Amino acid sequence: MDSSDKIKRLVRPEIQALTAYHVPDPGDLIKLDAMENPWSWPDSLRTEWCTALQSISLNRYPDPGAHELQAAMRRAMEVPEAAAVILGNGSDELIQMIIQTLAAPGRVVMAPEPTFVMYRQLALVAGMTFAGVPLREDFSLDVAAMLEAIVVHQPAVIFLAFPNNPTGNLFDAGVIRQILDEAPGLVVVDEAYAPFTDASFMSVLPEYANLLVLRTVSKMGLAGLRLGLLAGVPDWLAQIDKTRLPYNLGTLNQVTGRFALQHKTVFDMQAGLIRHDRADLFAGLQILPQLTVYPSEANFILFRVPRGEAPAIHAGLRDAGILIKILDGSAPALTDCLRVTVGTAEENRAFLAALTRLLPGA
Ligand code: PMP
Repeated sequence: MDSSDKIKRLVRPEIQALTAYHVPDPGDLIKLDAMENPWSWPDSLRTEWCTALQSISLNRYPDPGAHELQAAMRRAMEVPEAAAVILGNGSDELIQMIIQTLAAPGRVVMAPEPTFVMYRQLALVAGMTFAGVPLREDFSLDVAAMLEAIVVHQPAVIFLAFPNNPTGNLFDAGVIRQILDEAPGLVVVDEAYAPFTDASFMSVLPEYANLLVLRTVSKMGLAGLRLGLLAGVPDWLAQIDKTRLPYNLGTLNQVTGRFALQHKTVFDMQAGLIRHDRADLFAGLQILPQLTVYPSEANFILFRVPRGEAPAIHAGLRDAGILIKILDGSAPALTDCLRVTVGTAEENRAFLAALTRLLPGA
């Protein structure tokens, strides 16, 4: 049976034009492609966790408001008292909820580019228009271009990843404030990489009625859990909460999330280690004269290889047992670019050794 005619007729053209988010199978490779924390939990913690799970009643629906987890997340993420919060099944679910709340044909979602691809993808899925504003060559915000695009497009929402993915840098906080002042709609500061930087807009929330701050536990070491937090003005969050599915966080998530946050010092220690190893990895990349390496406040580093070499280096690393992310070909600004997640010191050394062998002139 051929369904292609029906698909052409019924699936919205903007969905037909999209490519599904692709995640390569890592097999046994050293996995440095997805900004995960390389460290797992100590055995004693695993045992304690399993005990906590034993009390769950899976025959019952979860707490729809995830109240206890919400309180724990507020504390862990230092959400100001005046702000409201919503929890999501990963922060990408929260991005989708924000967009769904505002979606209407012709309305604009705006973000600097290159950035996290789901802002664009979810805007198009919701039938909205996406306006990407190119970053400068050093990946800083182009203030004039952003302010002009705000006037032209009147975006319903602007997403600013802080630090930005895949470039790793922090945008200038003063420029973000200018954007907050000029934006006619919401401004979401997406702090997915908060564990690896001291900068944050969380404490700034009470100053702006149009600011939302997004966090996730994925990068701090709980990517398998799927748990994110959106904080902002209660009036706005009450609207966004209407787009949430009633039981978006299962009981396993809620209990595990609460348990993990009781042991947040373990994750804080691991984040400290990753920050330390990031400096070593950065130094190791920087001494390779063939590369341009971009400073990072996140748990990954973007670097540019000699012209045309990115696919061969990416494939060569894979053959050497190491998976990183190839960005070459995804956007003009990322031509010849690769992105490596900070792994354990041992993984980083294996990556650097393999990369050094693969670079032209080696
Ligand atoms: N925001 C940014 C900037 C990201 O890079 C990512 C994941 N790569 C996310 C949000 C989504 O994270 P999660 O859904 O795992 O919370």
